[in-house]
Amino acid sequence: MTDSRSQHEPVREVIVVGAGMVGLTTAWFLQREGVHVTVVDREGVAAGSSWGNAGWLAPALTLPLPDPAILGTGVLAALRPSSPVYVPPTASPRLLRWLAAFTRHCTPGRWREATAVFVEANRRALPAFDELRIDEPTKRADPFIAAFVDDADRDVLLHEFENVAALGGLTDYDLLDTAAVHDLEPGLGDAVTSGLRLHGQRFIDPGRFVHSLGAAVEARGGSVRIGRATEVARVGSEVQVQLEHETLTADAVVIATGAWFDHLARPHGVRRIVQAGRGYSFSVLPKQQPRGPVYFPAQRVACTPLGASGAEDRFRVAGMMEFRKPEDRLDPRRVRAIVDATKPLLRDVDWDARQGEWVGSRPCTADGLPLVGATKTPGVHVAGGHGMWGVALGPLTGQLLAAQIVRGQSDPLLKAFDPLR
Ligand SMILES: Cc1cc2nc3c(=O)[nH]c(=O)nc-3n(C[C@H](O)[C@H](O)[C@H](O)COP(=O)(O)OP(=O)(O)OC[C@H]3O[C@@H](n4cnc5c(N)ncnc54)[C@H](O)[C@@H]3O)c2cc1C
Repeated sequence: MTDSRSQHEPVREVIVVGAGMVGLTTAWFLQREGVHVTVVDREGVAAGSSWGNAGWLAPALTLPLPDPAILGTGVLAALRPSSPVYVPPTASPRLLRWLAAFTRHCTPGRWREATAVFVEANRRALPAFDELRIDEPTKRADPFIAAFVDDADRDVLLHEFENVAALGGLTDYDLLDTAAVHDLEPGLGDAVTSGLRLHGQRFIDPGRFVHSLGAAVEARGGSVRIGRATEVARVGSEVQVQLEHETLTADAVVIATGAWFDHLARPHGVRRIVQAGRGYSFSVLPKQQPRGPVYFPAQRVACTPLGASGAEDRFRVAGMMEFRKPEDRLDPRRVRAIVDATKPLLRDVDWDARQGEWVGSRPCTADGLPLVGATKTPGVHVAGGHGMWGVALGPLTGQLLAAQIVRGQSDPLLKAFDPLR
């Protein structure tokens, strides 16, 4: 199948704007299609959300953000600085528009539609990782635990899994009682009373992985350079990317600028807002480091062993969904809220010795689906809006988009991700 918006002229040279997980996997797959790539990033590799995230490649949990359950958190709760979902009391008109659209998508019917798309993407997400030839491996999550202080919280996740299974999704898990969950992860705190062990999930240290991708792109003849794109335009038979002091030209461009997506993409007909859903992380050194990722769904906290990242293996703790500008400063109250929520759930952690406090912006669309594909301007493509799951879905995005740009190959998933929808 071919896409009428794809180019028919041969594509030999492509500029990718944004050196995060999405931009660099797209560059890697474009190279596999025989294209020469130049990747530009205003700060360098993994400077955005692709650095301090949880690094989960977890198909069982890779689900759309707009969910009827999220509205249950309550509007007033979302205004409290300690709430896991935070909306500033002085939201801009742009944020209010996005929140209104997001709320409209938090219905059971819309959730089912978006989840059906995620089920198909999840089926193909890990195989896309296996096609990458880079130095940094993905790691099997064995075990991957979801832990709870209350059986009612566990029932919420089990109910969600039933709904996903009804749409054909794979959620392979074991139920763990108090003894079993503590046997499996002795580093869990006394407050944890039950768990689920998820099978078939993986994880990475995202910063190391994305740097390894950047090195692979360069080793195959691509260039990865610093530069801030201020405009993307079609001029004659070429596309131009305007940097602050230079103009780059190529046959095509891919805009993959994460939460800083709108101003470059909008002139090319992409009307959907990409809103920053900011999350926080830091790392600690538990006496008994859990062997795999640990998820505390009720607290919305995601933990990941970073492994091999230094002399001592550190454990990343991540959470929060804060709807603010990506460039706003790190708010220490959010870090404190994560610490307070997680303290009873992990044993023997010196929380005051935490390191690497970080804030990053998930690029969130109101309907929960990414924006990937051709725009109305020939040669201008976008890859963004992956929200909570741009790491897990990065390689699949790159694979599909590269095939569309170079061979005009369409795919039902790209229809669902159409940036002009
Ligand atoms: C706390 C937290 C936990 C998360 N956990 C997970 C997880 O476990 N699994 C998962 O799949 N996802 C997770 N995510 C989401 C994931 O991090 C993002 O979806 C993903 O990193 C988005 O990648 P990206 O390449 O689109 O954007 P980014 O990584 O943000 O990259 C965009 C790049 O574009 C550059 N840029 C911006 N504007 C310009 C410009 N004008 N010119 C040049 N360059 C520009 C930036 O410098 C940046 O490097 C998490 C996010 C957070 C915050």
